[in-house]
Amino acid sequence: MDGMMMHRPLLVKEILEYGIGAHRRSEIISQRTEGDIHRYTYPEAGKRIAQLAHALTAHGVEMGDRVATLAWNGYRHFELYYAISCMGAVCHTINPRLAAEQLIYIVNHAEDKLIFLDTTFVPVIAAVQDQLPADVTYVIMTDRAHMPETPFPALCYEELIEGQPEQFAWPDFHEDTACSLCYTSGTTGNPKGTLYSHRSTVLHAMISALMLNGSFGEGKKVLPVVPLFHVNAWGLPYSALLAGVSLVMPGAALDGPSLFRLMDAEAVHSAWGVPTVWMGLLAEIRAQGRKPEGFVEVVIGGSAAPKSMIEAFERMGTTVSHAWGMTEMSPVGTHGALPFWMNTLPFEDKLAQKAKQGRRCFGVDLKIVDEAGARLPHDGKAVGELFVRGNTVAAGYFRNEEASAKALDAEGWFGTGDVASICPEGFLTVQDRAKDLIKSGGEWISSIDLENACLSHPGIANCAAIGVAHPRWDERPVLVAVASGEARPSLDEINAHIAEHFAKWQLPDDVIWVDALPMTATGKVSKLKLRQQLGEYKHP
Ligand code: ADP
Repeated sequence: MDGMMMHRPLLVKEILEYGIGAHRRSEIISQRTEGDIHRYTYPEAGKRIAQLAHALTAHGVEMGDRVATLAWNGYRHFELYYAISCMGAVCHTINPRLAAEQLIYIVNHAEDKLIFLDTTFVPVIAAVQDQLPADVTYVIMTDRAHMPETPFPALCYEELIEGQPEQFAWPDFHEDTACSLCYTSGTTGNPKGTLYSHRSTVLHAMISALMLNGSFGEGKKVLPVVPLFHVNAWGLPYSALLAGVSLVMPGAALDGPSLFRLMDAEAVHSAWGVPTVWMGLLAEIRAQGRKPEGFVEVVIGGSAAPKSMIEAFERMGTTVSHAWGMTEMSPVGTHGALPFWMNTLPFEDKLAQKAKQGRRCFGVDLKIVDEAGARLPHDGKAVGELFVRGNTVAAGYFRNEEASAKALDAEGWFGTGDVASICPEGFLTVQDRAKDLIKSGGEWISSIDLENACLSHPGIANCAAIGVAHPRWDERPVLVAVASGEARPSLDEINAHIAEHFAKWQLPDDVIWVDALPMTATGKVSKLKLRQQLGEYKHP
């Protein structure tokens, strides 16, 4: 027997209309590329979003068309998110840090009709524009006074929307309609596009606002350092409007001192980003001897949050929520809020718990399997490849039959490529990306565990553990490290420091000091580049 309730499509416009109507004074505050701070309320944003949708319509954008963005976190990028999706087109966010070759592939593959770009990224487009489709319209996200010289024809954002009506009759359509598109950074092969639907986006917004609830609350200020140009800034542009939080957008200034200044001036309640960003902020906090005003929570994800980082934040009274996810999961899959009964645990035990990747979000099923695909128990000991299933998980890739065919296992679960264990309390521990596990003498060593332990040594500012080919052991762990100061601890000192957590054979064979670690386009340490750099490495 069917229930007798209405069925309304879950559309992004519902989030927009609800946010504007319910949270009249919540704001979007942006550090602009023009140099100043811009602020307006949700209702004011709504008017400009409508104007933008009219302008896009005038430029021939129709249902299903892809409209791309190449932009920092700022209010115009936020306007694009909503205008494009709510009119039924697809907001294709492009990561400006991608290699030129990947950018060319993505824009041609997606067949973007328009590309909106911040002034900063004019050189990025200029370098590849002759290899992008000839009929793309470029729009620079600024006003007339700040329009840069461009070697390609370009429109001005503010002129585009000026004078357009401030209301738009958002159409109704099926909730499975595509709303946004994000390509993975594609460390091997071409990038693959995850095509989110309105339904998956609305569900993800509701679920993540509920799960990461320490960040939310009407009028609280949340700062996404995680970019709108990758994995939907962890869904924050959507979940923010449900909860009525004010978004503080940092623009291009993501270094520690700039973030500190902005967070302090705005009394940001919660900030979201990858660990490398927090290393910069923590250095600034140490330099100033205090944390930014009102900084109560930090959400860390994208790669494993080191225990030493969690400890540093927790000791200053800033709660860490460690989240795990991926582009193909909209992206949040697990969240690190502790169950109530763990709040009374001793500090050290709490830290250990927070260093895990947290519990699954509602609607995300997790399973770990062995090499034959058989399920492994959630006993905290068994380690296997992690698969996920749910309404916010990709079922395939945009215009890529080959990759789509390989994405799901026989039971319809998505293979994450991560290797993990799950404890009886439901906490996920990501041991590693399968490709980063270090294989030594037929046994595995978790590079994340090694890094985590080594980062607790005061002499190490950042590090990466990688497996280097070895004639006898297959691979052996080598630590590539950045020193915190002048003194560089010896390999023996480092190994003595971490010895209690590892078997002897798991300890690194060597430490190589570098000034900085190579980063991926999404702000993570690039082990691919490190391995290439160490190609000629000879074991001591
Ligand atoms: P990219 O690495 O190109 O940015 P994603 O953002 O989709 O692509 O990365 C997803 C991957 O990042 C996960 O499969 C996992 O390996 C890693 N990851 C994300 N969050 C965490 C976390 N909290 N701990 C450990 N690894 C993480």
